[in-house]
Amino acid sequence: MFEPGAAFAESLDRADPLRRFRDQFAMPVPHRAAESTYLDGDSLGLQPRAARDMVIAELDRWADNGARGHFETDRPWVPYHQLLAEPMGRLTGALPTEVVTMNGLTVNLHLLMVSFYRPTTSRYKILIEDHAFPSDHYAVDSQIRAHGLDPAHALVTVEPRPGEETLRTEDLIDAIDRHGSELALVLLPGIQYYTGQVLPMAELAAAARAVGAPIGLDLAHAVGNIELSLHDLDIDFAVWCTYKYLNAGPGATGGAFVHERHHGDSDLPRYHGWWGHDRATRFEMDTLFRPIPTAEAWLVSNSPILAMAPLLGSLTVFEEAGGIGPLRTKSEVMIQYMDYLLDTRLEGRVESITPRALDQRGCQHSLRINDPSVSGQQVYEELAAADVQCGWRYPNVVRVAPVPLYNSFADIHRFVSILEQILDDT
Ligand SMILES: *Cc1c(COP(=O)(O)O)cnc(C)c1O
Repeated sequence: MFEPGAAFAESLDRADPLRRFRDQFAMPVPHRAAESTYLDGDSLGLQPRAARDMVIAELDRWADNGARGHFETDRPWVPYHQLLAEPMGRLTGALPTEVVTMNGLTVNLHLLMVSFYRPTTSRYKILIEDHAFPSDHYAVDSQIRAHGLDPAHALVTVEPRPGEETLRTEDLIDAIDRHGSELALVLLPGIQYYTGQVLPMAELAAAARAVGAPIGLDLAHAVGNIELSLHDLDIDFAVWCTYKYLNAGPGATGGAFVHERHHGDSDLPRYHGWWGHDRATRFEMDTLFRPIPTAEAWLVSNSPILAMAPLLGSLTVFEEAGGIGPLRTKSEVMIQYMDYLLDTRLEGRVESITPRALDQRGCQHSLRINDPSVSGQQVYEELAAADVQCGWRYPNVVRVAPVPLYNSFADIHRFVSILEQILDDT
């Protein structure tokens, strides 16, 4: 199916129906090599030109209008976040009323745990994976303490089996069943950030539901990377950031999903603010809170327009590309092409800890360097010296994420060639 040479990568690029999108992104300026190779989209997506245009448009709107910009222009700021609901819903498989763009991922996690982690004397535990992203770990730990509980009893973690890197579905489900009636929340990633493993979200959601526990997902590495159907999964909530695969820029506004069945539930505790208040009467400045009957009830503050404008621009690029479906189709070919090159050229020296099966992975490859003459850290530094940007995760993993919107097959070929050269030279 594939061939090892650079000419074959070029032929794949020529046949790629999405290849024109690369030109819609700013490629980092190389510092040392002739060309830069950007494979770090799992950490910070590249800048779509549309994002820059949108930010400049809002700066101009502000300059030209002052406070009039809140209501009176052709794209007023008060309902600005609503413009994101439909495209975000399409990307996540949610109803537009189920998604809201606000805050950062971890802030959203806290806000949603206020609603969905409601421990009682018998049901008080939170189940996470042992290698959860540190911020998630801190958030969960502090929520447990805020309820006057001790994480030593209330936090349950599931880890890979000894000698294994990825989580087994049966171990996760077994843990959910085992702690069943004591579980007050299951919080898991859609894609595990270190290994790139996609967790079986539907099975986990069903298992949580079966024991009566709410389930939330951290989709930091899943949104914009794989196809999602949050509504049909029937999970309770999800949170994500938009600066990774959604290319909305450093610290851009995060996202949250709350399933429709919870909208308008007046028994759910929630931290309120004026942006979650009924739109029609918000500016009457009444002190009685009347929640918007959608995920917007969780909005607290007015929106950071300059941190949302790039997302609005970026999502137009996703829409133009036909949404996540065609992107994932290209991504699957890229994944297999990279596997092929690693197998044929670096077998034994570089080992991927990412699952092999396509339905268990997104575009990220987590590579462990097995060459005894060189450490993973050294390889990472040499890659950086050759203007290859990728990720590094302690202790020994190089994370590489070919992104279908702006990466080419030639990028993948160049990366493997540079890596091979580095390992040959050490
Ligand atoms: C990137 C990432 C975060 C980032 O959290 P912020 O609140 O946006 O800073 C959280 N969780 C996971 C799994 C991530 O990969």
